[in-house]
Parts: sequence; C-alpha cells; structure tokens
Amino acid sequence: EDGAEADAYRITHLLLAACIKMGATVIDNTEVLDILHKKNGVELTTSTGCTVKAKKLVIACGYESQRYIPKQVQQLQTTFAIVSEPHKTKDFWYKNALIWETRKPYLYLRTTDDNRILLGGKDVQGSDPDRRNHLLPRKTKDLEKSFCDLFPSLSFKTDFEWAGTFASTKDGLPYIGSIPERPHTYFALGFGGNGITFSMIAATMIREMLEKKKNADSDIFSFNR
Ligand SMILES: Cc1cc2nc3c(=O)[nH]c(=O)nc-3n(C[C@H](O)[C@H](O)[C@H](O)COP(=O)(O)OP(=O)(O)OC[C@H]3O[C@@H](n4cnc5c(N)ncnc54)[C@H](O)[C@@H]3O)c2cc1C
Repeated sequence: EDGAEADAYRITHLLLAACIKMGATVIDNTEVLDILHKKNGVELTTSTGCTVKAKKLVIACGYESQRYIPKQVQQLQTTFAIVSEPHKTKDFWYKNALIWETRKPYLYLRTTDDNRILLGGKDVQGSDPDRRNHLLPRKTKDLEKSFCDLFPSLSFKTDFEWAGTFASTKDGLPYIGSIPERPHTYFALGFGGNGITFSMIAATMIREMLEKKKNADSDIFSFNR
C-alpha cells in the first residue's frame, strides 16, 4: 500500500520533456568545471568551454555536491544488488509486492516486468571502487543466500550483479537550502536510499525559496540544523 515503482529512465525523460515545454534548455553530457559567484548571480564554466550566466543556481549533483560545501555533511556507502534470470510466468510472486526490511543491514526485493527477482542491500561504508569490485562476488553470494533463506521454495539464478554508491547524512535527512559561502545558490543532497521522496521535497522547497515563500519544514533540512 505504501510502496511505488517507477522506471527512473522514463520518468527522467518525461520530466525533462515537460521542462523543455515550459521553456527550459537542457544541456546534457556537460560537466560544470567552475562556479564564479558574482554580485547578482553566478557564472558557470562548462567542459565544452561555454559560459552560463544565471541569477540563481541549484546544485543537485548527487554525492558530488559535497565538493561545493566546505563542511563535511555526508557519508558515502556502497550498496549491492543482483537480479535473477527470468521466471517463466508471473505467478511465482505475491502480486507486485515490494519488500523492504526495516532492520539493519536491510534487504529489499521486487520483481521486474520480465519476471526477474531483483534484490539488494548488504551496504558497506565507503565508496572505493577497487574495494567495491573486490567485494562484489562475495556480496552476490551473501544476497543469494539471504534470498534462499527467505524463499527456500523459489529458484534464484543470478543473471547480473552490480554495486552503487549513495550518500547519506548523520541524521538520515537530506540537506536542502543555502550556505553563506555560496550566494545565489541552493543545494539538495544526501538523499540516502530515499531519492524519490526527498527529491520531491527538495524540489518543492527550493521552488518556494526562489519564490521567497516561507516553508514550515525548511529548518529540518537546513545546513544549520
Ligand atoms: C543501487 C541503488 C538503489 C537505489 N534505490 C533507490 C530506491 O529504490 N528508491 C529511492 O528513492 N532511491 C534509491 N536510491 C537512491 C537514489 O538513487 C538517489 O538518492 C538519487 O539518485 C539521488 O539523486 P540526485 O539527483 O541527488 O543525484 P544523482 O542521481 O546522482 O544525479 C546527480 C547528477 O549530477 C551530475 N553531476 C555531478 N557533478 C556535476 C558537474 N560538476 N557538472 C554537471 N553535472 C554534474 C551527475 O553526473 C548526475 O547525473 C538508490 C541508489 C542506489 C545507488
């Protein structure tokens, strides 16, 4: 009842299309290399050698956002996931159930449109790529074992395995707002494993900040909390 599933790729493209329709320009595959904070706005230098001038800047660079903030506000974690070979029919799973264990370390499970089982978790601190690659075979086995312990009657043959990095904060809440060191700039970072929920909260709050409206929750997510 409380869960939802979305195709992240499609949803991103639909959102971008809606923004373009409303007059936005999308410049993809372009890194911002430098940010100059001026009296009335910002000036960005891109990897393609262009300059972008703006009155306001929103930095929503995922865990890369930390490099624009002097104070360390996030910790990086590596998480692991595996997906099974497809089952022949859909009836092996109860409805479209999404499962998320509330204990730590947690495990999450769901099925895919092509009848695969996807599960993940077994997070470790840090994001070192060599360590991550080294751990992947062992974490794959750990995830397979966890699945078989939970569902001994279901077959599971891993087809793909991968690892990803995410950033979380000490109190589990993201940082949404501004810092004095970067005028005309708003941040949204530290979503942890709750990017869908926190990104919506961040979008609403930053829009209200730009419109100079008061938001009752802004203190909860501020850099001064
Ligand atoms: C394996 C895994 C599973 C997850 N599952 C879920 C889930 O089920 N539900 C959920 O809600 N969340 C989930 N999350 C968390 C979610 O993916 C993140 O919270 C979310 O993607 C963060 O969004 P973001 O826009 O802040 O950053 P990102 O999605 O990381 O996007 C930041 C973007 O900024 C770009 N960027 C960075 N620096 C620059 C620069 N200098 N110039 C230009 N561009 C730049 C990057 O290339 C990137 O495209 C999961 C994360 C992982 C790793």
